[in-house]
Amino acid sequence: MDRLQKILAQAGVASRRKCEELIQSGVVEVNGEKVTALGVKADAAADIITVNGKPIRGENKLYLMLNKPKGVITSATDPKGRKVVTDFLHGIKERVYPVGRLDYDTEGLLLLTNDGEFANLLTHPKHHVPKTYHATVNGIPHGTALERLQKGIKLEDGMTSPAEVEYVDVDLDGNKSTVSITIHEGRNRQVRRMFEAIGHKVTRLRRIRFGELGLESLHRGKFRHLTPQEVKELL
Ligand code: URA
Repeated sequence: MDRLQKILAQAGVASRRKCEELIQSGVVEVNGEKVTALGVKADAAADIITVNGKPIRGENKLYLMLNKPKGVITSATDPKGRKVVTDFLHGIKERVYPVGRLDYDTEGLLLLTNDGEFANLLTHPKHHVPKTYHATVNGIPHGTALERLQKGIKLEDGMTSPAEVEYVDVDLDGNKSTVSITIHEGRNRQVRRMFEAIGHKVTRLRRIRFGELGLESLHRGKFRHLTPQEVKELL
């Protein structure tokens, strides 16, 4: 027996906090009886639990990794009908949503799940999952400029925490270079803003690692299921 809000969150209905609100708003029923109190427990396997009359899924949790192409919105739906990341999940019937987000023009490793608690844990600011990006920038940043990124640099929303930075590729004519950067936070457009702060515009941004997970040979626009071991290692 578990608390109803935990069961709802684990079934991917919403975050635990949102599920509490759903219960209080009177749209949740257990075996045909409306439940509005928050302490109520239920059996996820045996009880019939509905939200707005619709039964919730069982324990079928999905954990997916997508190699997001550029020009795609990190969202499950878009009111304007633009391409979204879930458009690439052929054959997946469950309603999954992205764990954190990548900018419209950022490519690479994006996790998607229907496990609300898993998503909340990984995106919580206290959970410093290292994320590695390959940033292609105009020109070649000087070593001292990269050191500034490494130590932490002042952005309009405050200092960034220390990052790991190294050259990956340098164009011989000096027009562009690719730098690997590992950050332990997830602020809005953080990597792009960090490079802007040292005077180098990012022209291509690709996330290649998320925690222990690497993109490896997953082709652009393709997804795969994580193994149970991979899921465990992320937490
Ligand atoms: N940093 C950015 O600037 N963009 C992303 O999409 C991810 C990290």
